[in-house]
Amino acid sequence: MPSLNVDHLTVRFAGLLALDDVTFTVRPGTVHALIGPNGAGKSTCFNVLSGVYRATSGSVRFGEHELTGMSPHSIAGLGVARIFQNLALPPHATVEDSLLLGRHRLTRTGFVAAGLRLPSAAHEERRHRARVREIAEFVGLEEYLGRPAGSLPYGQQKLAELARALCMEPRLLLLDEPVAGMTADERRRVAAVIAGVRDSLGISIVLVEHDMGVVMRLADTVTVLDFGRLIADGAPADVQNDPDVVRAYLGE
Ligand code: ADP
Ligand code: MG
Repeated sequence: MPSLNVDHLTVRFAGLLALDDVTFTVRPGTVHALIGPNGAGKSTCFNVLSGVYRATSGSVRFGEHELTGMSPHSIAGLGVARIFQNLALPPHATVEDSLLLGRHRLTRTGFVAAGLRLPSAAHEERRHRARVREIAEFVGLEEYLGRPAGSLPYGQQKLAELARALCMEPRLLLLDEPVAGMTADERRRVAAVIAGVRDSLGISIVLVEHDMGVVMRLADTVTVLDFGRLIADGAPADVQNDPDVVRAYLGE
């Protein structure tokens, strides 16, 4: 697994510095939390990492690939998967079909050949269905595969989105507030699945999350942004007690 190197990253919007010379490294197979008060630049950072926004200056490297200037599609092709804050699964499709669509990037023969019922496509489809089942089991959704995604409770829908991202066989996952709006039980369950994604699958994760309990329990490293600037970067326990971080959160 490659590391992600954010190097002197700056993003300017008409006079406003949304990110100001930000540098941090996401080590392979770790959960790296990106936190900070509203307007700190977290979403802007995700938008640059996923190719939605252009950097004004600086660089983002994933292994040997320079991501700045690449399209969202090309970045996804390198195995960088993003899960948005709002639900994005088609509500009427079954969970299984949604997960199969997540594997689109990986199909050789493609869905046209599958539609034509070519033998090579049938074999490939069986392989993809088997992998979809494995991933559904990994997140604990195997019993919901035949149900419309929109009929699942909110927490399960978020897990289905995570499963769909895993179906892309990503090397880096960008999670935008994965436990927002969840009950305490759902939060625990999703946090456990995220830990499993790191520990069992070895996938690196960048996590934007407001729930400090989840951040402190899950993150190997925490980067704190405030008004676009990096004000702390390190182990959760150290960052939590950093006077600059306390000040930023208290808004002094
Ligand atoms: P966070 O996600 O940490 O709350 P954002 O990255 O959304 O912060 O925003 C950082 C700053 O950049 C804010 O002041 C926001 O208003 C500004 N901003 C974000 N996106 C745009 C945009 N597309 N155009 C202009 N300003 C933007
Ligand atoms: Mg945001």
